[in-house]
Amino acid sequence: MTIDLRSDTVTRPTPAMREAIARAEVGDDVYGEDPSVAALEARVAALTGKARALFVSSGTMANQLALLAHCRRGDDVFVSEGAHCAWYESGAAAALAGVQCVTVGQGALFSPEALVAAVKPTAYYTPRARLVALENTHNRGGGRVLDQAQVEAVAETARGLGLALHLDGARLFNAAVASGARVATLAAPFDTVSVCLSKGLGAPVGSLLCGPEALITEAHRYRKMLGGGMRQSGLLAAAGSFALEHHVARLAVDHAHARELAAGLGALAGLTVETPETNIVMVDLPAPTASQVVERAKEQGVLISAFGPARLRLVTHLDVDAAGVAQALGVLRAVLGARP
Ligand SMILES: *Cc1c(COP(=O)(O)O)cnc(C)c1O
Repeated sequence: MTIDLRSDTVTRPTPAMREAIARAEVGDDVYGEDPSVAALEARVAALTGKARALFVSSGTMANQLALLAHCRRGDDVFVSEGAHCAWYESGAAAALAGVQCVTVGQGALFSPEALVAAVKPTAYYTPRARLVALENTHNRGGGRVLDQAQVEAVAETARGLGLALHLDGARLFNAAVASGARVATLAAPFDTVSVCLSKGLGAPVGSLLCGPEALITEAHRYRKMLGGGMRQSGLLAAAGSFALEHHVARLAVDHAHARELAAGLGALAGLTVETPETNIVMVDLPAPTASQVVERAKEQGVLISAFGPARLRLVTHLDVDAAGVAQALGVLRAVLGARP
């Protein structure tokens, strides 16, 4: 059996989730008449502590709606290194919202001082500083959980500078489970927050953008403008509600599996593996052989990602159990022991 550790997006709906989908009551959500979508939106608004939530097709759309709702063309958006909205959204920040992403500092989260230094002086010829967009957990940072005290310090500084705040919470439930904090607490410093149902939570499709009434009303318009109005999307929302009921607490299992993979691989000579905080394991190789390692592992039924010439990424999830972790470790030990 293939063990797929490329991403937590590869999960397939469980039989019980498929039953929930089959049972879903639906209506036309462009008319605002889908009860399953309304129920999901109310649930996620409450979970994130925001006034309103909007169900959208993807995390990318949630982030882009946030940029569109917060910003005007030409604005500066301050992000941390490797931000999803700068790296993995096909340039939409520039192409659709017309904003530029300014990378601040290094790593998953910058300091308040670095933010102050990154904001340009106010003049008609400088971009208008508008938004800070953080990511929790931080994907390219290896699923790092942001330090909440530092998030609050950055948010306070941002407010002082007149900036709004958005949180890309594609894996915010992982951050909550790992830290023991409530999702609403992690989202509290931000105006808007996006969460994904199709990552570790195991739903097939969907994200929500949550925030104050006025911003979500704007985002709702932009969703339609981008072709993101969906009709009987209650089928998808039902899967999301099921995931929130049944797949949140079990994220701790994925985190334990990630630590197990990291410990097993970290014991191999020459590899550098940081202890994961959540479900993402980054492995640094002594030489730029990541793509060869990916190929060899694939030949033996283990799928992983190259995340740079000498870096591998492994992500644990709902569809990889303890036996799968053991099997993957066996294959990777053999492949990496006989490093190409
Ligand atoms: C996966 C991900 C998203 C959204 O991705 P989609 O594939 O568009 O749903 C956004 N932010 C982060 C940090 C992600 O990992």
